[in-house]
Amino acid sequence: VKQGFRCASIEKEQTLGIIKPDGLLSNYTDKIKNVILDSGFVIRNEVSLQLDEDSVRTFYAEHSSKSFFNSLITYMTSGPVLVMILEKENAVADWRALIGPTDARKAKITHPHSIRAMCRTNSEKNCVHGSDSPQSAQREISFFFKEKSAAVYVFLVLKYCPISC
Ligand code: GDP
Ligand code: MG
Repeated sequence: VKQGFRCASIEKEQTLGIIKPDGLLSNYTDKIKNVILDSGFVIRNEVSLQLDEDSVRTFYAEHSSKSFFNSLITYMTSGPVLVMILEKENAVADWRALIGPTDARKAKITHPHSIRAMCRTNSEKNCVHGSDSPQSAQREISFFFKEKSAAVYVFLVLKYCPISC
């Protein structure tokens, strides 16, 4: 039983982070990665992609009825993005806290140390994405890392709980 507790205490959570086209174009990648690593995240996997319109439509389907949807598609397809699986305890909430509010102009005032405040432009061009719940994280990770997320999980279990679990 004690061994079970020991394993539970090191369980990690994963979330999806994206450096959006404005973040990559403005050369914020290294700064953002430094913040990520300094905040205790491990970048478990990353891939640089040029998204197409269909991918953005699917990824952001929850916003399909919003007035800014077409603009969001144009923005997200305007250049490459860097998609990352970020891992630590409480990764989903901690990454959302680190990126700050959606509107980068407000982030500058209310969350001056957030990543969106650092890159600040406006309510659309806000530099980074973060999953908004563990369920979203699961969906979004498997959207970009289809076979790999299961493999990563198996790897983690084997790494952290080799015999005792
Ligand atoms: P997030 O979870 O903080 O990224 O925000 P949402 O899920 O509400 O929106 C998804 C993305 O759509 C945001 O990160 C912005 O890039 C964009 N967006 C959100 N709200 C607006 C808006 O009011 N106007 C415009 N032009 N874009 C928006
Ligand atoms: Mg969102």
